[in-house]
Amino acid sequence: MAEYLKVAFNLPLPNLFTYRNSPASPATVGLRVEAPFGRRKATGYVVDEIDEADIDPCSVKSISRTIDGEALFAQPTIELARWLSGMYLCSLGEALAAMIPSGRRESEAPALDTGDAAIGDHALAPTEEQRAALARITRSDSGTTYVYGITGSGKTEVFMQAAEAALAGGRGVIYLVPEIALTGQVVSAAAKRFGPLCAVLHSRLSPSRRLAEWRRILRGEARVVIGARSAVFAPVKGLGLIVIDEEHEGSYKAGNAPRYHARQVAMKRAALEGARLVMGSATPSVESWHLAVSGFMERVTLSSRPAGGSIPAVEIVDMNGEDGPISGRLAQAVRETKARGGQSILFLNRRGFSWFFRCNTCGSEIRCRHCSVGLTYHKERDSLECHYCGFRMRPPKACPECNSLDVGWAGFGTERIEEEARRLFPEFSIRRLDADTVSKKGELEATLAEFREGRVDILLGTQMVAKGLNFPKVKTIGVVLADTTLNLPDFRAAERAFALIVQVAGRAGRFTPDGRVFVQTYRPDNEVIRLAAAMDADGFYRRELDQRSMLGFPPFSRLVRIVFRSREAERASLAAEDFAHTVAPHLPEGVELLGPAECPLGKIAGNARHQLLFRAVSLKPLHSILAGMAASFVPPHDVHLEMDIDPVNLM
Ligand code: ADP
Ligand code: ZN
Ligand code: ZN
Repeated sequence: MAEYLKVAFNLPLPNLFTYRNSPASPATVGLRVEAPFGRRKATGYVVDEIDEADIDPCSVKSISRTIDGEALFAQPTIELARWLSGMYLCSLGEALAAMIPSGRRESEAPALDTGDAAIGDHALAPTEEQRAALARITRSDSGTTYVYGITGSGKTEVFMQAAEAALAGGRGVIYLVPEIALTGQVVSAAAKRFGPLCAVLHSRLSPSRRLAEWRRILRGEARVVIGARSAVFAPVKGLGLIVIDEEHEGSYKAGNAPRYHARQVAMKRAALEGARLVMGSATPSVESWHLAVSGFMERVTLSSRPAGGSIPAVEIVDMNGEDGPISGRLAQAVRETKARGGQSILFLNRRGFSWFFRCNTCGSEIRCRHCSVGLTYHKERDSLECHYCGFRMRPPKACPECNSLDVGWAGFGTERIEEEARRLFPEFSIRRLDADTVSKKGELEATLAEFREGRVDILLGTQMVAKGLNFPKVKTIGVVLADTTLNLPDFRAAERAFALIVQVAGRAGRFTPDGRVFVQTYRPDNEVIRLAAAMDADGFYRRELDQRSMLGFPPFSRLVRIVFRSREAERASLAAEDFAHTVAPHLPEGVELLGPAECPLGKIAGNARHQLLFRAVSLKPLHSILAGMAASFVPPHDVHLEMDIDPVNLM
């Protein structure tokens, strides 16, 4: 037993703390302990054992107790945590807390019924293209391969076979998917294929189940880990392969500190542990596309659909002059589809009945009292609601600004589309999928099952229907309003709009060549919409990279965003100014400071938000200046500071 322990706490403190070990329940590296901290007790991670105290032995306190019976992490995890803390400017303890499950007791119940399928079950004979992709992955020099393939080109099958090959070679696998709920098909296919060797880590697991799965992975019983973002930290033994499916997805970026990107962590882990890294998408992130075309990352392309379908024709529909939210052309296609026994999906990037409550006299909208976003009207509940903080109010009969009674609704929402669809197609069976309808447990699965069995003619929904779903009978897809994404005040708006249209279009004609896609817009001449409709990826990325280069945005620069939030708008803005003044004289050459400015979402849940953006060609000077500032700048007690390295969302 080591006499003393070095402990890291989940607190924004740069140092480790020394404690005396407890002879009654001795701790070692990798265990969590409870220890006196100030006037309370805190849970910490033991990261080192030492025999001589490095501080006055008289002032050393003893740990209160050891939480775990067996180590939860080992040296490689500590090493990765050190890197994470340097990269994302957090403490070692905060890094470990983001990586390791927080459960105290293991749950007995298995997290997933994996059935009794044997390895290799259900494997398809790969096509020539897939075989070539697999060969490139397993022989890649750099260890990193990008599988760029149109929707339905069999990327998932390539990833699965790469995983099988790694397993056959005695190595472990991490398979990342954007969100488990939306990728149920991939997860259950993997679970069947890898049986009990597979562990699934998703956000709906209770902490104790998560801990139980973590232990199975540590013991080497589970050797294929499938999961969302944080599964990138899974302690897989002899890691040989990391897969990132749908690499472009925003959910790979953490929303809370430390705001890590799973792709960045995967690259580091693959390098540290000698594992291969494979990513893929039909709509790569602009960053990844840039790496591939400039020769820094190997890329293989899948260009055909092995299941027989072809890429559908995409038609742009000009909404200027249309009466309702469903154009005549789209309505006709939906009717023809049903007449031939097919199904349709109508996609909209908005929840609610209508986007904004609007005064037709003075033009004012009703915005959330606590956040600065427009409220969405929900007809089912007859209430106006905020989608950031949950605030609700009754819709007013008159305009609060000018008292006009001529008030109404502007914009489109899924409920409004549903109502319009029921009016246009009274004899059709229609289902809606969005965050409102799937909040009830099992609802998502039930609706998808009904749709798969052909008992639903039209599926309406938000992002949820844009991803990963794979239904043979879908012939017609309508993007109800492409403009909503395009108009966001974020430099990635065009990238998001392009990806959305291409991904949604990919849900049609997956097995037959007769899919049709309609993209409705008030801006039919917009170049991004045109390129997306033409499925012209080369054209889109060339244009987008030109613009980013001209404006100095990533991938031609790195950004760090600091958000100052406070109940008092004045306090947030003063703190941002104060920070800017303090840092300005010390900015290294090549580091640019943008702002302070109010965030596009100036208020969320009652907190005012102001931001600073730091920009440079590389992260190095940004890290050095901001690490220094983080240590010396103490924000006022009523202002909270959020640090975001390589921010993905600038709202
Ligand atoms: P992607 O991930 O590229 O969108 P998927 O992996 O979902 O594509 O594949 C699309 C469809 O093609 C799936 O139904 C899958 O079962 C089928 N498929 C994939 N590879 C093959 C193959 N080699 N032979 C026959 N069908 C295949
Ligand atoms: Zn008014
Ligand atoms: Zn709000």
